[in-house]
Amino acid sequence: MSSTSPSHTYRIELTPPDITSYQAGNTGTPYVTTFDSGKPGPHVMVQALTHGNELCGAIALDFLFREGVRPVAGRLTFAFANIEAFASWDTSDPNRSRYVDEDYNRVWSDDTLKGERNSTELRRARELVKFVDAADFLLDIHSMHDPCAPIMVCGATGEGGEKSAAFARKMQVPQNLLIDTGHPAGLRMIERGPFRDPRAPQTAILIECGQHWESSSVDVAIDTALRFLQATGVVESSFVKSRLRIQPTAAQTTINVTHAVVAKSLSFRFAGTVTGLQVIAKAGDPIAYDGDEVIVAPYDNTVLVMPSMAHLKVGTTMVRLGRATLG
Ligand SMILES: [Zn+2]
Repeated sequence: MSSTSPSHTYRIELTPPDITSYQAGNTGTPYVTTFDSGKPGPHVMVQALTHGNELCGAIALDFLFREGVRPVAGRLTFAFANIEAFASWDTSDPNRSRYVDEDYNRVWSDDTLKGERNSTELRRARELVKFVDAADFLLDIHSMHDPCAPIMVCGATGEGGEKSAAFARKMQVPQNLLIDTGHPAGLRMIERGPFRDPRAPQTAILIECGQHWESSSVDVAIDTALRFLQATGVVESSFVKSRLRIQPTAAQTTINVTHAVVAKSLSFRFAGTVTGLQVIAKAGDPIAYDGDEVIVAPYDNTVLVMPSMAHLKVGTTMVRLGRATLG
């Protein structure tokens, strides 16, 4: 078996949008804008640039601003999150602008937000948390390091994942919905407060639109944002329908993460070339090697969720394993 990995650099098909005209906003917080319909309805939030090198969300928000989207019920908030990381964008080294000090999407527990620690990302999260906590519906727009079909990350099993997946089924996209087990490194924004309470109506979803710099990620980001706004009821269907870009598949697939494969040594390698959402047909077939250990598929049709050699360190989650069901 070879030890090929998908960690090479990909072609950059996107140009970072000029978002400086959104800096002032209208909320007192830079790069956050709220439109109020003046009518009853939910508070809906769409966030881009959680990671500064994920351009498609910023392009999607810029598109919606320029198209003049306005709520017909409730309120609509658009936020560009990690603007300092985004400002450091360098086409010759685009991965460096993911964050400045730490991952902005691992700091969302109250312990961390209200704690003593400080960082560029924590300061920004402390500015934005009041908007997140006021949101009834939240869409967080991301993209992935390696090429992969779009995935809706719905949150963790028993902690909001199921209600978010139900909401994504109303949107009819993307084909793949992921219910996972969270990240040990820290709480994500979509797992905060009532979003993680299965009985609370507040719902948050995170779309992974494809590889960071492929042009198709923009179509996914715009289409997903439009369908999200329609499903919340704050934007008229006529506005949405004329701007959709993607035909939904007949049936969506729900992938429940069952295992996380964590590197125990720097000799970790996959058993051949792997791609996101690749299916290992037979239980017992090798997935990876780590020192003397062979990691095998725990059941037939094991799905590889976001395998990546990009961040190999002892203790890093290299791939998660999931079980897929239709619907
Ligand atoms: Zn991301």
